[in-house]
Amino acid sequence: MERARQMLQHHFGYENFRQGQAQIIKQTLRGQSSLCVMPTGGGKSICYQIPALMLEGLTIVISPLISLMQDQVEALRTANIPAAYINSTLTAQEVDETMQLASAGYLKLLYIAPERLDSTAFLQALSHVAVPLIAVDEAHCISQWGHDFRPSYRSIQKLVTLWPQKPTVLALTATATPTVCEDIRQLLEIDEQATVITGFARNNLALSVLIGENKERYIKNYLLKNSQEVGIIYAATRKAVDAIYDMLQRAGEAVAKYHAGLSEDLRMLEQERFLKDEARIMVATNAFGMGIDKSNVRFVLHYHMPRNMESYYQEAGRAGRDGLPSACILLYASGDVQTQRFLIEQAQDETRIPQELAKLQTMVDYCHTEGCLQNAILAYFGEVQEQPCGRCSNCNDGRAVTDVTEDAQKVLACVVRMGQKFGKTMVAQVLIGSKNQKITDFGFARLSTYGLLKGQYSLKDVSSFIEFLIAEGLLAVKHGTYPTIYVSAEGKEVLLGQQQVMRKEAVVVRQIATNDPLFEHLRVLRKQIADEERVPPFVVFSDKTLRELCDKKPSQL
Ligand code: ADP
Ligand code: MG
Repeated sequence: MERARQMLQHHFGYENFRQGQAQIIKQTLRGQSSLCVMPTGGGKSICYQIPALMLEGLTIVISPLISLMQDQVEALRTANIPAAYINSTLTAQEVDETMQLASAGYLKLLYIAPERLDSTAFLQALSHVAVPLIAVDEAHCISQWGHDFRPSYRSIQKLVTLWPQKPTVLALTATATPTVCEDIRQLLEIDEQATVITGFARNNLALSVLIGENKERYIKNYLLKNSQEVGIIYAATRKAVDAIYDMLQRAGEAVAKYHAGLSEDLRMLEQERFLKDEARIMVATNAFGMGIDKSNVRFVLHYHMPRNMESYYQEAGRAGRDGLPSACILLYASGDVQTQRFLIEQAQDETRIPQELAKLQTMVDYCHTEGCLQNAILAYFGEVQEQPCGRCSNCNDGRAVTDVTEDAQKVLACVVRMGQKFGKTMVAQVLIGSKNQKITDFGFARLSTYGLLKGQYSLKDVSSFIEFLIAEGLLAVKHGTYPTIYVSAEGKEVLLGQQQVMRKEAVVVRQIATNDPLFEHLRVLRKQIADEERVPPFVVFSDKTLRELCDKKPSQL
């Protein structure tokens, strides 16, 4: 390991290994195949680059993105490390030349696109080269259960068994659920004990979910208030990317854009402008960002809710790679769910639709959860965190918690009495005592007369309460022609009175007249908040605070 540290200093200019790096390098050097799960920006590349320098022979790196390969190879050559890549941008002759260099032992690292492994001639040529290590970057692409399955990644199994003596395998990823980890280990024959997970928590990221904002206005204001900062705005569709880009350009912002509808050349150009800080804002679809190493991204704004947690955390995680405080803001609207549903159903592989819809639901739950957002993400990736993060919008909203067990029981009971085969709108309508034709047709007119939640709540309140119960796991969603809800095992415990349900007090939007004494107070407060450097995403006052405010003079605030 002493030599490994010298390599780190000599070639990369760093004094110490980061968390997990030394362990992975140690295992790899002793020939143990490993799985490395480390957050984006955690420093996965060095985990195979240093062993590659120290091991006899050629290390092969499988990497899904051409641009990524080129950047890495360039960076390695700058650090005096002989490296090359083989992908579709090379001519047949260039491929031959590269292979000759590899066979003659002139290369330490060779980056290969997975598609290349489908060529038997290529594998044949490779089998004559001594290969001690195969690094599989973005290893979640090999798993059907991952969010970004690439069939070509399956050919890696063939590669691994190409030589009489199996090379050491190092699989690396930033986003893998326990199921995906298990799948990767099985496919690449990695021992469970050889898994190194450094933890998903990113303690410099402040996560926010904002529901019901005017998105355009929010983005404009945010950029005005943070006018010096670099950031990425993600949207789900090319059309939305174009629209946001146009809006920001009209507002005089230095902005770049990136989506699959632009030519390869233009995409590269726009990416360069962003990487070189010529454009401070990148507006993009999820096509942008894999492997991008830009350290000073201070915010990642999501204009639409992404289709799953893996994508969200990977995209949001592009903020704050330098470890400085950064914001990840998700602007949620219920229409986002339809947008993503549509995109999922458009995808070619029909067999994957149910699984993708289930993942989408987890994302919707995340947007409606009232607990710590960081912990919700960690729980998704199978990590237990006791303490709330104290930075996210849920940790900082200052709302009191109340017991809503009784109301929850009313909703759950209603779902049961309706036979657990209807959508949430229908249930909500019955709960507020609505008597439309559909309710009568299905024979719920009588149930609806009880109007279990009638009077206290509007239809919208009840719908959002149902969303909350889904997010809490008390109700579950079944995806069919249209989504229906049913009571989960945990929900049954609530029905039986074995479990309490706590919810944060609702946010009430109250209009305040200009002659109300509160008006002046809030005006002063708002000014104070806006003067601060970092504007919190929103401010919520409890009734108690509002009453206390009334008792004070503006000068006392
Ligand atoms: P990942 O692939 O995990 O997203 P990278 O390998 O691209 O991350 O590394 C992210 C950044 O961290 C790079 O700029 C890299 O040079 C830097 N880095 C890696 N290891 C160390 C280290 N031990 N000390 C300081 N910086 C490091
Ligand atoms: Mg990487």
